[in-house]
This record gives sequence, structure tokens and C-alpha cells, in this order.
Amino acid sequence: FADLAMYRAKQGGKNNVTFYAPEMNAAGTARSSMELGLRGALEGGELRVVYQPLHDLSGQVRGAEALLRWQSAALGNVSPATFIPVAEDTGLIIPIGTFVLNEACRQLAAWREDGRALERISVNVSPAQFVQGDFVDVVRRALQTWRLQGRDLELELTERMILRDVKGVARKMAELRAMGVRLSIDDFGTGNSALNYLMTLPVTTLKVDRTFVQALEDSPGAYRIVQAIVALGHALGLDVVAEGVETPAQLLQVRDLGVERTQGFLLGRPGPPEELNWEGTGEGGKEKGGDHWA
Ligand code: C2E
Ligand code: MG
Ligand code: MG
Ligand code: MG
Repeated sequence: FADLAMYRAKQGGKNNVTFYAPEMNAAGTARSSMELGLRGALEGGELRVVYQPLHDLSGQVRGAEALLRWQSAALGNVSPATFIPVAEDTGLIIPIGTFVLNEACRQLAAWREDGRALERISVNVSPAQFVQGDFVDVVRRALQTWRLQGRDLELELTERMILRDVKGVARKMAELRAMGVRLSIDDFGTGNSALNYLMTLPVTTLKVDRTFVQALEDSPGAYRIVQAIVALGHALGLDVVAEGVETPAQLLQVRDLGVERTQGFLLGRPGPPEELNWEGTGEGGKEKGGDHWA
């Protein structure tokens, strides 16, 4: 693709009409090769799931979030922030999302088999996945396959999704809640949505976006915002999770503010299941700035 684009660019020359559309620039080329690669990634075994622990206030591991990783033979390690949007645009997020859900359920069952007392596993769900007609059945099947209860699973949704089709989303959320599945709002506070959905949708958890947590030390505004989110969540009977806790000072602050769970590089970074740090309170991950396994 790169060669072809370059060839075309040369042919195009100055003052000539170019052969390629504006989106066939370097970024567009990178995206289409990513799209191609992603198509084969699932079958090729290039996708895997890593896990990041969630801790209670005493520092005990209580849950884990499943996070997707793509180790592409052609492109190297690609961040989910980069490839998830491509997977969403191409519809590949449907099989990929089902894969993650099943992997996460399998892993929770395996941990329980090993005697690990995890409350539940958390799985991110894209809007495109959630709006699929059979999404609730996909969840039910994954739970059945691994002999799990609804309460063993938490789905992490975004405010972005809620805005799309509130009625349809509400109906599906109610079905999932009736099964016992927990529903959290991920990156809470960063979507450009109103708060009114919290009045009607059966959400169980707010995950305070890490930008607030990471601003805690320097910004009194951030402190008050997290304080207000905790108050809002608790007033509505919801659990509050602080994500992106990287420093002891941040951990002290969010514990002080009364969140139920913390998640972040300080106590545990994402890694393969066999490397999960069950000690929790210990010094957690190694260095800052990346996955445990990378
Ligand atoms: P997210 O769901 O908000 O996940 C948390 C992200 O923050 C993860 O990035 C995690 O590695 C990172 N993180 C955790 N603790 C810290 C910390 O202390 N400091 C910093 N700086 N970062 C921290 P990751 O794994 O790169 O995932 C990025 C996003 O990609 C996720 O954000 C989620 O929105 C999406 N994603 C990941 N896996 C999946 C998946 O299986 N399905 C879908 N639909 N989206 C996924
Ligand atoms: Mg998440
Ligand atoms: Mg998050
Ligand atoms: Mg986030």
C-alpha cells in the first residue's frame, strides 16, 4: 500500500490531478493496512486479553478488567485506542468483542478453579456491539458456557453509547440487570452527555476517568470534581471506581474521597493472567508507563 501510494503521488506531480482521494494519504494508508491486518488477527491468534486488577480500599484484589491486546506480525503491538475504532468502523468489533467476552469468562472460571476469590470480571463493550440484536444472548451464552452467574460479570459502557438510542439501550440494560450483570459507565465525566440518563438507566457503577485522578495532586478543581462524582454516585446508590491511580498520593486521595474500588498502575498494571499481582497493597507493577507483560 505504501509503495502504491508513493507511486501514485509521483505520477500525480505538481499541478496535476492526483489519482488518490485525500484520505489516501499516509494516515489513510496506515488505516487500510490496519483494517486488513485486523481481519486476520482473530483467526491468526494475534489478539489476546490481558487483565488489570481492581482493588478495594484495603488494597485487596477484588476484580479485574479485561483489556484487549493486538500483537500484529506486520505492525507490531498496536494500542486498542488505535485499533478499536477501526474494528468498530468495519464491524470486526462484533466477533472480536464476543471473543473478549468469552475469554474473560473463561479466565474468571479458571481463577475461581484455582481458589482465587474474585468478585467479578469487567469487560469493555463498544456501542456497535451493544446495539447488536443478539447482544444479550451472546452474554448469556458466554456465562452459561463457563458456568458463571450474571453477577460475576460487569460490562463497561460509555456515555457515547447511551446517547445513540436511549430507549433501546434502556431495554437491553434492564434485561442484563435482570440477569444480575453489572453495568458501569467507563471514563465517567469525559463524555459530552447530560446526566439525565442516570435517572432512568439501571447503571451500577461509575468509573471516574483517569484524567481527573491524575490531576488530583495539582488541581483543586479536579479534587472537587472527583468529590462531587463520588457524592453523586453514592446518592444514586452506585459504586464508584477511580481509574488511573499511579501515585501513592493519588491513592490516598481517592481512598479518602471514599471510592469503592481503585485501579491503576500503582497497584497493578495490565498483564497476562498468570502474572496478576494478587498481593495488591505491595509495590504493584514495575516501572511506570506500560503493560506489565510488554
Ligand atoms: P478503558 O476501558 O478506560 O481502560 C483503561 C485504560 O487505561 C487501559 O488502556 C489501561 O491500560 C489504562 N490504564 C490503567 N491504569 C492506568 C494508569 O494508572 N495510568 C495510565 N496512564 N493508564 C492506565 P488500554 O488497555 O490501552 O485500553 C484503552 C482503551 O481501549 C480502553 O480504555 C477501552 O476503552 C478500549 N478497550 C480495551 N480493550 C477493549 C475491548 O476488549 N473492547 C472494547 N470495546 N474496548 C476495549
Ligand atoms: Mg474500561
Ligand atoms: Mg476506563
Ligand atoms: Mg479511561
